[in-house]
Amino acid sequence: MMGRRLLLRYQGKIEVATDMTRIFRGLAVLLLWPLVNSPLGAREMEIVDVHIHYSHDAWERLPPKQAITMLREAGLRKAFVSSSSDDGTLMLHALAPELVVPVLRPYRRRGEISTWMHDPGVIDFLRQRLADNEYAGIGEFHAFGEDVETAVMQEVIRLAREHKLFLHAHSDSDAVERIFATDPQARVLWAHSGFASVAEVRRMLSRHDNLWADLAFRSEHAPGNRVSPEWLALFEDFPDRFMPGTDTYTPERWYYVRPHAEWTRGWLSDLPRELAQNIAWRNAESLVRSSRTRP
Ligand SMILES: [Zn+2]
Repeated sequence: MMGRRLLLRYQGKIEVATDMTRIFRGLAVLLLWPLVNSPLGAREMEIVDVHIHYSHDAWERLPPKQAITMLREAGLRKAFVSSSSDDGTLMLHALAPELVVPVLRPYRRRGEISTWMHDPGVIDFLRQRLADNEYAGIGEFHAFGEDVETAVMQEVIRLAREHKLFLHAHSDSDAVERIFATDPQARVLWAHSGFASVAEVRRMLSRHDNLWADLAFRSEHAPGNRVSPEWLALFEDFPDRFMPGTDTYTPERWYYVRPHAEWTRGWLSDLPRELAQNIAWRNAESLVRSSRTRP
């Protein structure tokens, strides 16, 4: 008798366990369903990271193959790469031309950020590189206010126009205004959205149809992984202008590319699907499509 009762109890437990397994399976299907069926919720929403540098001190520590692996492991669809010197960009592009969008940086070594626009040798360097290779843009360069009036910067703007390249400018609003005053047809990718306030970014985007803005090294648009109301309004009013970027300005920052992509996927999932995809990759890809180096 005892044995039979135990057996029944045991069978009951098995049945309960089986039911629980079914419930868990059902729950799993319900929970995973939106992930499988919505590109937005997919674990690996593709991202174009538009602010990667692979400068000489980075490639000394992180060989090109390893760097490409890190970009792939971050789930990037593309990466805009510029480097001091440009050789870093070319090395990565040679290994993964479908992944790396080369952007021509006017710096030959680290430390030329504030002097480059006074060095006419920069122009010869850019001309030579543009003759030898294909790029989508010139930058990221640093230029503030009157820097744009120097002969070197004026020639950079002219070269960008000739080769149909965008300008990746780490600049204040004044410098961006001067670029557009020099060439109203210029296309400017505003690095870090100028580190400007929401109101100022809005003002600049309203004034210039050819101004795009990267969100590199900024996080205030998504405190606690939720998009703030004022940034949400800005993204909704300018759905075609924003793009994410990590900014690997030091070698150590390379280890942040993947966590940054994951964080970006997190706050993007807060946005309507179309808008999230625009910011994640579509805006960057349309900027590249409208760029070419050969005149
Ligand atoms: Zn940068």
